[in-house]
Amino acid sequence: MKFRNFKMVGFVVYGRGSFNQLDEIIAPHRQDGKPMVFLVDHFFDGKPLVNRIPVRENDKVLFVDVTYEPKTTYVDKLAQQLKEEFGAVSGVIGIGGGSTMDLAKAVSLMMNNPGSSADYQGWDLVKFPGVYKVGIPTLSGTGAEVSRTTVLTGPTKKLGMNSDFTPFDQIILDPELTANAPANQRFYTGMDCYIHCIESLEGTYLNEFSKSYGEKALQLCQKVFVDKAKWDEECDDMLMMASYAGGMSIAYSQVGVAHAVSYGLSYLLGTKHGIGNCIVMNHLEEYYPAGVKEFKYMVEKNKIEIPVGICKGLSDEDFEKMINVSMGMKPLWENALGKDWEKIMTREKLRNLYEKL
Ligand code: NAD
Ligand code: ZN
Repeated sequence: MKFRNFKMVGFVVYGRGSFNQLDEIIAPHRQDGKPMVFLVDHFFDGKPLVNRIPVRENDKVLFVDVTYEPKTTYVDKLAQQLKEEFGAVSGVIGIGGGSTMDLAKAVSLMMNNPGSSADYQGWDLVKFPGVYKVGIPTLSGTGAEVSRTTVLTGPTKKLGMNSDFTPFDQIILDPELTANAPANQRFYTGMDCYIHCIESLEGTYLNEFSKSYGEKALQLCQKVFVDKAKWDEECDDMLMMASYAGGMSIAYSQVGVAHAVSYGLSYLLGTKHGIGNCIVMNHLEEYYPAGVKEFKYMVEKNKIEIPVGICKGLSDEDFEKMINVSMGMKPLWENALGKDWEKIMTREKLRNLYEKL
């Protein structure tokens, strides 16, 4: 048995208003003549948060388009643009949801690694550390702030740059930044965390480390989406910590069926991560009976619409593509169903599941 020896985020600051410490936190990492680059979710273009970014001298604020989940081509373009404009940069600071944080991690790595980010989609392929990188979430749930991966859609696969160089050097967890996110978006991203917990806690890779974080994150999600009568500041506080703990839980375990199936949807149809997981979770009673029951209750209580019938009219070839992508997520299936997972989740069974979505 070989135990995972995983790299964690370097520094963490948590608290309402902690964003105000950004200037002070990054100051020691500024290198002469090299700018700090702020990659900011395009939602904040023209919003008051932009005026609070500690821009100095030749620093650059770049609004990133997260209409679609990050692609390797987009990462390459951003890194190329920065290299042409500045040669080198002091650091990359991502301010936004999971998509923006993944872009920031990937761009940081591509400032110091040759070729295309597509060359590094996989496990431990990244050769050199990236430039200093900071993650500042404005949505809670993905756990991208703590993970060692950055999920990218490339020319042939949707897979992260999963490496010890990928985690952020610093994260700033300021729940104020998630206030006023639209209720649907907040739910989909929050459910990503809930689903991480269920998949981790019900998985075969579970150990006490994962369980401790997973149980805490699950409890926080339940407080937010089951117990609370209406959304308030405490919900933002709790969900931000749930996301962190959920991410820590899967660091030592793995996600499961909902993620494995949702990756297929995302690859073929471009379905976004949070909503895709919800669409799949809605049909997973067989694998996670208690979790799915509670999930359905939360959907109803929070008055959220989960799309149905998204696979209607797809061709055999389309289904094959999704099945191939999903079946390729071996560690997820093994975590969910055990070593003999291929006997349990056959291509036919997976096809039936996709047809229901
Ligand atoms: P997102 O980053 O894709 O953003 C969703 C939408 O919310 C966007 O339109 C964005 O502009 C908007 N938004 C962001 N913050 C907002 C705010 N405070 N108020 C209003 N709107 C806001 O959503 P997400 O669910 O956080 O992230 C999903 C992405 O994260 C996917 O690309 C997925 O692959 C990735 N992911 C990564 C990991 C990892 O470990 N690296 C884990 C899970 C998911
Ligand atoms: Zn997820």
